[in-house]
Amino acid sequence: MSAEKSVPAKKTAAAKKAAPAKKTAAAKKAAPAEKTAAAKKTVPVKKAVAGKKAASAKKAASAAKKAAPARKSAPVKKSAPAKKSAPVKKAVAPERVAPAKPPRNESHTALVRRARRIDRELAEVYPYAHPELDFENPFQLVVATVLSAQTTDLRVNQTTPALFAKYPTPEDLAAANPEEVEEILRPTGFFRAKTKSVMGLSKALQDDFDGEVPGRLEDLVKLPGVGRKTAFVVLGNAFGRPGITVDTHFQRLVRRWEWTAEKEADKIERAIGELFPKTDWTMLSHHVIFHGRRICHARKPACGACPIAPLCPAYGEGETDPEKAKKLLKYEKGGFPGQRLNPPQSYLDAGGIPAPPLGATASAPPAPTAPAEPAPGSPSRGTG
Ligand code: SF4
Repeated sequence: MSAEKSVPAKKTAAAKKAAPAKKTAAAKKAAPAEKTAAAKKTVPVKKAVAGKKAASAKKAASAAKKAAPARKSAPVKKSAPAKKSAPVKKAVAPERVAPAKPPRNESHTALVRRARRIDRELAEVYPYAHPELDFENPFQLVVATVLSAQTTDLRVNQTTPALFAKYPTPEDLAAANPEEVEEILRPTGFFRAKTKSVMGLSKALQDDFDGEVPGRLEDLVKLPGVGRKTAFVVLGNAFGRPGITVDTHFQRLVRRWEWTAEKEADKIERAIGELFPKTDWTMLSHHVIFHGRRICHARKPACGACPIAPLCPAYGEGETDPEKAKKLLKYEKGGFPGQRLNPPQSYLDAGGIPAPPLGATASAPPAPTAPAEPAPGSPSRGTG
């Protein structure tokens, strides 16, 4: 699937190099450049041009006209519809893609356009993006989000069914025996501190909010263990109110894309909020986090299998060999189960596989059980 995206990207790169010649001559002109690294990328383009003849040449000429920055070229857009119909497990580029140029002296307007374009592409790559914590009501979501600190959503999802079966309401959890709660929460790590947090949170809900999770940011952040990130997760997904979730994945990716140079979560949240309309905030968060978990990993981003590589200034930070990159893909993109035991229907319809319950053996390789990346200074959000 990303293969289809990558091919036009190379056409764009080739077209830029062959700009004066245009059309079919572009492929021929590319040959002398084969000594350079960039020339390697022109080789498959030449093949493609030869194969598709006039049609491909027309596209190359069209791309050459736009010869500006790589991310200005829109090749990935054309292939995007194919993603919808293709199996989500095989979103992999078989050939190398052209790297984008770093955005130098990019105007705010250009940045807004580029950022929104990346989000649109991600929306096509992950049309089933959703919160990856299982929950049935706001109480379950706020508790699950607090538990997700320093562990994966998968591990939280495997743990909370037993917790909510025994303590379905804030009143039940507030009155629980802490040792019994600790035993249930043990698989999530930091289980003593988390027990205190969720029991304190439940007591506050019982005492101050009549046992209901409040739907306002200013109330949510007063709850023990609830920061802005947790509050926005709850607002966006349990109350339908726009929120940007700046977790470790979000921070890493927006820096790679040079959407902002800010390093503090609150400042990142504000900076990114200025690039997108409020109505996009919640789904933007899901798209970015999905991409961070599946393709643009912290240590080994799978650049060679990344559908938005032509738009990314950080292309090349990770593995660019398509076959090697393909092996780095996680969750449904790599053919593995997702993080939710009860994912939304859209995920199942797209070929996504539910995560196995705690202790069960999945037929496909399981998702990582240890945090993919530590989240220093980010206790209120998980890493998986
Ligand atoms: S995987 Fe590579 S190309 Fe894709 S967004 Fe991440 S750094 Fe950019």
